[in-house]
Amino acid sequence: MILAACPVLPSKALPLGDALGCVTVAPVVAGHDVPSFANSAMDGFAVRAADTATVPVTLQVVGTAAAGAAPGVEVGPGEAVRIMTGAVVPPGADAIVMVERTSPAVDGGGVRIDVPASPGDHIRHPGEDLRAGQELFDPGTELGPGHLGVLASVGLETVEVVPPARVGVLSTGDELVSGPGELRPGQIRDSNRPTLLALVARAGCIPVDLGTAPDDEAAITAAIERGIASCDAILTSGGVSVGDFDYVKTVLDRMGDMHWWQVAVRPAKPLAFGTVRGTPVFGLPGNPVSSMVSFELFARPALRQMTGHLQLLRPEVPAVAEEAFLRRPDGKLHLVRVVATTDDDGRLHVRASGGQASHLLRAMALANALALLPDGEGVAEGGRVKVMLLT
Ligand code: AMP
Ligand code: MG
Repeated sequence: MILAACPVLPSKALPLGDALGCVTVAPVVAGHDVPSFANSAMDGFAVRAADTATVPVTLQVVGTAAAGAAPGVEVGPGEAVRIMTGAVVPPGADAIVMVERTSPAVDGGGVRIDVPASPGDHIRHPGEDLRAGQELFDPGTELGPGHLGVLASVGLETVEVVPPARVGVLSTGDELVSGPGELRPGQIRDSNRPTLLALVARAGCIPVDLGTAPDDEAAITAAIERGIASCDAILTSGGVSVGDFDYVKTVLDRMGDMHWWQVAVRPAKPLAFGTVRGTPVFGLPGNPVSSMVSFELFARPALRQMTGHLQLLRPEVPAVAEEAFLRRPDGKLHLVRVVATTDDDGRLHVRASGGQASHLLRAMALANALALLPDGEGVAEGGRVKVMLLT
């Protein structure tokens, strides 16, 4: 239901410098060959291979070809041109001899070639990397540093991609304070907002800080309105449970089309999701671990879909339980915060990263995976358990 309400954002042409991590929507085509001219793969001498059939042989050096210079002097029989890596292969030459296989001729002016060359040696040919008209990347490619380099190498300044989604993050709760200073009795510091803003950034989206709202309908309404005006999706935390002051529910029900779920998972049971005037809104639970796990399970796949990614879910792989993960049947999937390490044979091993209650954030910070315990009695030490990798 969530994915059905989170369509891909409209694509646009972004400068390469802004497109890291974005997903292409159309085939990108090379406008010219790369390399666009035959050039040297080595520092050395451009020669006619036939002249080096019998070595050592001394050739007359008739010029120098530097990278960036236009094609220079022609190499005639018995001649060579000193050449640098990346320089145009001079007309007449059909091979490069690397400088390490040469020495200055004793009588001066020439170069002694010590090894025979074959035609084509150390020459990079036009179009060897990319051909004009070639499709560079399939639609749906997530652009990494290398992709951006390839696009730059054919002279593209912009690329048509799904832009990063702007995702608003709002904390709610009368008890929340931000920053340093004394806590009054009952107050706690807002940890969900920095966490969720960072999770948004890690998901390749643009985090938009909507601040903290008290448990007050007008304040929550105003913050959601600000979010709707400037964001492609909104995450709230807190106030979606069944407490007396859980006003997020009242406000979102009035503003949009919301679903209120109790999901059969632990942690992260309460979840609200819906749209407010077309903008997806995720009402994540207030408990810090629950809000992180809810983000992973429900918001991140949706944000990845909105930003055009084809792979929405984290990888799930088998691992060996280094300790028993026992549980009771309760109809829920349990997600256990674990540290996963790989042994010399490439097998993954997991152990708990700390206590598992949903307010214990440090164990979540230390975890790099969530072990998935389906309903039942859990897994004995040494048993097999499936884990969702978070990194
Ligand atoms: P709630 O979902 O509003 O009932 O909150 C559940 C628990 O999470 C309560 O203990 C809240 O104090 C705590 N909590 C809610 N929001 C935050 C937040 N932004 N940072 C840290 N803890 C929070
Ligand atoms: Mg609350």
